[in-house]
Amino acid sequence: MNIILLGPPGAGKGTQASRLNAERGMVQLSTGDMLRAAVAAGTPVGLKAKAVMEAGELVSDEIVTGILSERLDQPDVKQGFILDGYPRTATQAESLERLLAEKGMALDYVIELAVDEEALVDRITGRYSCAKCGEGYHDRYKQPKVAGTCDVCGSHEFKRRPDDNEATVRNRLVEYRAKTAPILPFYEAKGLVRRVDGMAPIGEVNTAIEAILDGR
Ligand code: AMP
Repeated sequence: MNIILLGPPGAGKGTQASRLNAERGMVQLSTGDMLRAAVAAGTPVGLKAKAVMEAGELVSDEIVTGILSERLDQPDVKQGFILDGYPRTATQAESLERLLAEKGMALDYVIELAVDEEALVDRITGRYSCAKCGEGYHDRYKQPKVAGTCDVCGSHEFKRRPDDNEATVRNRLVEYRAKTAPILPFYEAKGLVRRVDGMAPIGEVNTAIEAILDGR
């Protein structure tokens, strides 16, 4: 099963993708994570992407499609994948069609996480994660059970994304509305889109997605 999770920043794509990974072994393909890894490693791609990401703008289609294409060649992707943060433009949607055809793969669903945009700024600016295992937390909605200690791995180090500040988030939402939301009709025309209420609690969103994947 291969799916796209589509929705604005903060809609819960990453959270839902890691649940599906834990429950079904589907591989999370987050182009944002790939780019952050490139920035951290100081690769040529990372050097080009860093300032663009910090401004909340989109990295070039060419760069992002290049890193995704390489990732799709790795064998674990055959277990089924969840695209999280790609495609983000009409050009990327077209590139994805070509890449999947070349690699003998196909999409089963495009799951749209529908959310109230004003709630997103609050969701995103409060979020942080464990620096060691990546478990996600939130200043107001999900604190570690023991203050300062990760529930999952016990680490005491946490991090925040540099682009999770209000000004950048607003820019990321503008980019989403202008460039990403318009790709929905492309997938609607193929009959692939399923809509889920992304404002519901995490577990309910997960149940709704599972039901779609199980054809219920
Ligand atoms: P995300 O982790 O998906 O919120 O992505 C963080 C940032 O990485 C975005 O704001 C963009 O700057 C960049 N990025 C991630 N995926 C893409 C993509 N598919 N196309 C262009 N830029 C991307």
